[in-house]
Amino acid sequence: GATLGVLGGGQLGRMFVHAAQAMGYFTAVLDEDPSSPAGLVSHQHIQTGYQDPEGLARLADVSDAITTEFENVPAVSLAALAGQCFVAPTARAVAVAQDRAQEKAHFVGCGVPCAPYAVIETAEQLAAVDVGLLPGILKTARLGYDGKGQQRVQTAAQLAAAWHHLEQVPCVLEKMLPLALECSVIVARGADGTVVHLPVQRNLHRDGILAVTEVYEGNVPAALAAQAVAAAQSVAQGLDYVGVLCVEFFVLDDGSLVVNEIAPRPHNSGHYSQNACDVSQFELQVRTLAGLPLVQPRQHSAAVMLNLLGDLWFAHSDTAQTPAWDAVLALPGTHLHLYGKTVAKHGRKMGHLNITAPTPDAARATALQAAALLGIAPF
Ligand code: ATP
Ligand code: MG
Ligand code: MG
Repeated sequence: GATLGVLGGGQLGRMFVHAAQAMGYFTAVLDEDPSSPAGLVSHQHIQTGYQDPEGLARLADVSDAITTEFENVPAVSLAALAGQCFVAPTARAVAVAQDRAQEKAHFVGCGVPCAPYAVIETAEQLAAVDVGLLPGILKTARLGYDGKGQQRVQTAAQLAAAWHHLEQVPCVLEKMLPLALECSVIVARGADGTVVHLPVQRNLHRDGILAVTEVYEGNVPAALAAQAVAAAQSVAQGLDYVGVLCVEFFVLDDGSLVVNEIAPRPHNSGHYSQNACDVSQFELQVRTLAGLPLVQPRQHSAAVMLNLLGDLWFAHSDTAQTPAWDAVLALPGTHLHLYGKTVAKHGRKMGHLNITAPTPDAARATALQAAALLGIAPF
């Protein structure tokens, strides 16, 4: 049988491995952590860093095709692998997603509106920033996630202090926008240019981390949903993208749609598809990588996803304790996904709970019951 390789051993890699194995593939994971979530369940686990030439060569050797589950894999590593093996997404697409300045330039090039912004790489650029971008959010151009590497700034003085605090690395200053809601779209694009998508996901973030995703008819006004899907498709098309891509959006108070950022892989906000759609985002990743046909997925149930952060393990005491799943799993349509992480930390993604139901109201009601049982704030 063929072997599908993945760079990165986190939970996204683990769920990719599950989907690949269900379809009869062998898998190889490259991650230096001996107990990485994906490494634990893969046929092969190459325990080296993303830049180790020997490890990369071994991965290319055993794999028929390679993807990534981690967006900060060095683009040069992907480029090196592409010399020996089919790699999707490409180094170029991942490089754009890794750098907010390039990412925003790509949005502009595709004609998809994003927040007004300025790139700040030098003290001169800092001094010349248009004060019309304030109040704003200063974001490091690279390596931020879950709201890390971001600072909200009101004044030019705060902006300067924040840039120095971020150690003067290349940054992007974005105008702070009045958000009515946040949503995202997962698209999958094959090497032949076929594009399919999952339904638009409505996302609630808490402390910069995704907390809840709701997907059902009416979660986002239909016209906006159609606009988001079209925008996500053109962002993928413009990159000549192959693989699964998530595009995050803001809907502003005035009803306009603005793109936030992209992730060159399956996304936390697409996890509901495991139980609510006939094809999950991880199966889409397998299909794009293996060159299998892409057909438009169909959502068969209303869905709510609750992220299970490490905080829940500390809900009733200072020492980590597994939440009592029994009561939650006694509710209809609850699907528990845990990532096999043995150490719980505050803000760490330990798993997620998908709730499916025949109607949006029923999905929400069950999700609110589950949240109350687990100590997750209502939404
Ligand atoms: P992720 O974990 O999704 O990769 P990230 O660290 O890359 O997150 P962003 O998606 O850029 O961060 O921002 C995190 C959150 O901060 C957004 O989901 C949104 O709630 C808020 N936010 C970001 N930019 C803006 C903005 N320009 N105006 C208002 N709110 C914003
Ligand atoms: Mg991000
Ligand atoms: Mg984000």
